[in-house]
Amino acid sequence: SRKSGPGNPLLERRLQNFGAASVLFYRSPIEMVRARGAWMVAENGKQYLDFYNNVPSVGHCHPRVVDAISDQVATLNIHTRYLTRVVDDYLDALKATLPGHLDNLLLSCTGSEANDLALRIASTWTGNRGFIVTETAYHGNTLATTDISPAALKKNPLPDHVVAIPPPSPLVFEDGVAQGFAAAMAKAVATLDRRGYGVAALICDSIFSSDGVFSDPAGFLADAVDVVRQAGGLYIADEVQPGFARTGECMWGFQRHAVRPDLVTMGKPMGNGFPMAGVAARAAHMNRFCEDVGYFNTFGGNPVAAAAGQAVLDIIREERLMENALNVGGQIVAGLNTLRASHPVITAVRGCGLFIGTDLCADGDPRRPDQSITTDVINGLKERGVLIGAAGKYGNTLKLRPPLCLTAGEANIFLNALEDTLGQTR
Ligand code: PMP
Repeated sequence: SRKSGPGNPLLERRLQNFGAASVLFYRSPIEMVRARGAWMVAENGKQYLDFYNNVPSVGHCHPRVVDAISDQVATLNIHTRYLTRVVDDYLDALKATLPGHLDNLLLSCTGSEANDLALRIASTWTGNRGFIVTETAYHGNTLATTDISPAALKKNPLPDHVVAIPPPSPLVFEDGVAQGFAAAMAKAVATLDRRGYGVAALICDSIFSSDGVFSDPAGFLADAVDVVRQAGGLYIADEVQPGFARTGECMWGFQRHAVRPDLVTMGKPMGNGFPMAGVAARAAHMNRFCEDVGYFNTFGGNPVAAAAGQAVLDIIREERLMENALNVGGQIVAGLNTLRASHPVITAVRGCGLFIGTDLCADGDPRRPDQSITTDVINGLKERGVLIGAAGKYGNTLKLRPPLCLTAGEANIFLNALEDTLGQTR
């Protein structure tokens, strides 16, 4: 919810320009003017610690990314129909982080485009039209990806060719997440068969970000993926959220589950804010798709994008950001569990690396999700200079995603602000 307001002329202009499509955070939105590392600065000089960060993942305005983009844009910035060394150097480096069976990489500008393409490749290969997603998933803003995004469809029913299954939550699957999730998958496959679509693919984000962050037990995804494969469908790993070292143990979220995706889509942190995304695929799948349709993207993977992407890969490696995500993420989880002992409103802490979810519930009852208290905490944190978002079917999961360069000291600033906020919230 937001205050439209006399007193904020820029907000008025924004609401008039975007109209009903305006998406702004906070009851009173913040005007940002610059950022660096884990910090953003508002027009009034107030500094905010960014715990919402899922794009400038190696740190806001990282000087190496800025230099790489500036140098390349001043040298050569063209469409993608020519040979350019910087692009293939980048693709080789990116491919080296992925499993060997994914031979081809195509670049696009947004995660939505990447997922749209992955859906088309899966349909062409399998001859099927059905897709399986999770209940509160978000996969993009195109016609096809909106159809598979219950979070974007709001209260609209899912189209007939899409079946949503519950998130891999221990509250849903009390007898074991792996087994329950696989059984739900089998039911979804049967529904798609009955409706005559068959299953083209399961598409999911391996950290289940918009479902509320479900990370454990590592490996739970494998049985569900097997069910889909046995039915002739592919598994598309949407790595837009968990990819690029955020989960701390691996470069890619699916690697925690020891599964081999047929298609991997990626985006957001890939260029640290430079718009770029991509799809990794098996050559056989790409060949079949290109016989039938083909693909061209004017801007996707141009030399400037490649320069930005290369800088991001170099920084992750050289600044040891995956290790940092694991260590500082562990510190935050430990801190949250300590807070939980004295604040029963916290009913669960989940996550890995710097992707963490914390449920807030009424009366300490995990089955009484409290969205209003979550909104109060988010706004209370904002007053204390920390930016954070919510996720999950009931909007009661605090979603923590600070930049991968977060320091132990910055993690403590967040934990102290949260403790203070919880102390002041009813
Ligand atoms: N997949 C997931 C998991 C996402 O979170 C998003 C964006 N929130 C997308 C796809 C779409 O990416 P984009 O906004 O770059 O089109």
